[in-house]
Amino acid sequence: MNRGKELILRGIPAAPGIVIGKALLLDREQYVIPKRSLKDDQVTGEIKHFKDALIQTKQEVMEIKKRISEELSAEHGQIFSAHLLVIEDSMLIEEVISKIKRDKLSAEYVFQDVLKKYIKVFSEMDDEYLKERISDINDIGKRILKNLIGAREDALSTLKDKAVVISYDLSPSDTATMHKKNVIGFATDIGSRTSHTAIMAKSLEIPAVVGLETVTKEVQNGDTVIVDGTHGMVVLNPTPATLKHYESSRKKLVAFGKSLLDMKGLPCETLDGRKIALMANIELQEDVASVIAHGAEGIGLYRTEYFYMNRKDLPTEEEQFKEYSMVAKKIRPYTVVIRTLDLGGDKFLSQLEIPQEMNPFMGWRAIRFCLARPDIFKTQLRAILRASAFGKLKMMYPMISGIEELKQANIIFEETKKDLRREGISFDENMEVGAMIEVPSAALTADILAREADFFSIGTNDLIQYSLAVDRVNEKIAYLYEPAHPAVLLLIKNVIEAGHRAGIWVGMCGEMSGDIVMTLILLGLGLDEFSTSPIAIPEIKRIIRSVNMEEAKEVAQQAITLSTGKEIEKFARRKLKEIIPDLAIEIE
Ligand code: PEP
Ligand code: MG
Repeated sequence: MNRGKELILRGIPAAPGIVIGKALLLDREQYVIPKRSLKDDQVTGEIKHFKDALIQTKQEVMEIKKRISEELSAEHGQIFSAHLLVIEDSMLIEEVISKIKRDKLSAEYVFQDVLKKYIKVFSEMDDEYLKERISDINDIGKRILKNLIGAREDALSTLKDKAVVISYDLSPSDTATMHKKNVIGFATDIGSRTSHTAIMAKSLEIPAVVGLETVTKEVQNGDTVIVDGTHGMVVLNPTPATLKHYESSRKKLVAFGKSLLDMKGLPCETLDGRKIALMANIELQEDVASVIAHGAEGIGLYRTEYFYMNRKDLPTEEEQFKEYSMVAKKIRPYTVVIRTLDLGGDKFLSQLEIPQEMNPFMGWRAIRFCLARPDIFKTQLRAILRASAFGKLKMMYPMISGIEELKQANIIFEETKKDLRREGISFDENMEVGAMIEVPSAALTADILAREADFFSIGTNDLIQYSLAVDRVNEKIAYLYEPAHPAVLLLIKNVIEAGHRAGIWVGMCGEMSGDIVMTLILLGLGLDEFSTSPIAIPEIKRIIRSVNMEEAKEVAQQAITLSTGKEIEKFARRKLKEIIPDLAIEIE
């Protein structure tokens, strides 16, 4: 561990901006355990709280044991007997209770402390059998802690002081519950640029660096931390000189961002007058304000699955209707492209108890899941259709891999429309329905898909991972995740050309559409709509307003003759600097 000395760590930039603050280390066990003192009159209640958590945990374990015994075998069920032994260990229980009384500290803090001691003692024993019990103690310990402090998201959302959160990993649902005012930045050991955690951080405008590998080992609670999410750097315990340097970079970045916002009211068009739809992506209804503040002309991707997260049940039709119509009303007169439920991959819903899969990104997710669960799918379609009467809505399906899926989804959609007509419920009869193109098979058969779609929206986050076989959330292979790879550009070109041949518009809602290095190429390839994180909007507009189409086409044509992603990226950077020299602060 680093002891107070300056340490610079390099990771992957996940959300831009620079922040300087105090570190709050989330335990690797994934819970924030603050050292909370008790008043004298709180001690009895705290002991009861501890005993209640033990009872609750015991019930949970007995239920699991019963289920596993029935579904697998009594032998498998016995595994949980070891867990029950830990819960009933009177020495452990007594030790926790007497420490709560003596030290007047919270049950979770004391319990965690005692647990660590037990694990240490067991790990130092020579007995292999006892050593193996460590994982049981760990497992059950986590379960008890969960019941003592509630889910970790509570800890994240109720943070009292401003902090830079340091964690091994954060799930998209953790990130969604982050208290924007108090979590001012975050840094994680694992993760990548296009993980949904990173995307969420951008939406929340929380500077973030991921894939740092060792940050949780190096940092201590309360250390001063600089998170430079623009360049993917984290500095622990900076020297006064480093602090001064970053403070001045932070000011420059803020000023640069403000200057870009001056263009907010200007149209998004090239010098020669080609209009481009510049839209923003949102995860939550609350994000709409940021879309408008950054000068986007609508929402090109509304990731509805976040509305299903961090809750115990599935949202009802009525709840969804309220949410979607609120977004439609807020963004009026602009359009919102609402995406149907895209669960799976790195976005999980605890209430659905989806079985764990070896390859979740290639598994039972998105449209595949919706087609298998028409009950859930139809509820959402009804809510979307009803909301369409309150604004300008378009809808698209995620993860379409071929024409059959698109046809099946459209059949269910038509059935839903029929139901609503029969019930006399109004909706927009002409709502456009599109397909996301994020699977290589869809990109290659775009001509066929165009027969069944009113538009395409290219989801490069997934398209890149599938076409290059690079897991989008794995930091170890992040160097292979290349938006500029010639294969990716050829797929994009094919989709745009196929869409245009069929007379439909083609947009892009993956992170690539907000990558300023790629803007000229995408523009030159003929993309009609860019949809990206709100914070990326002003720069993209700036670039589009600084070129004419002939220039952009030439850049695209030359780019696709090059052989590697690196060459293409280098070439695109050079062209960008030539055309707009003062973007340097961002592209260095
Ligand atoms: C994509 O894959 O590019 C996309 C926009 O969808 P998501 O990031 O939600 O998978
Ligand atoms: Mg996707």
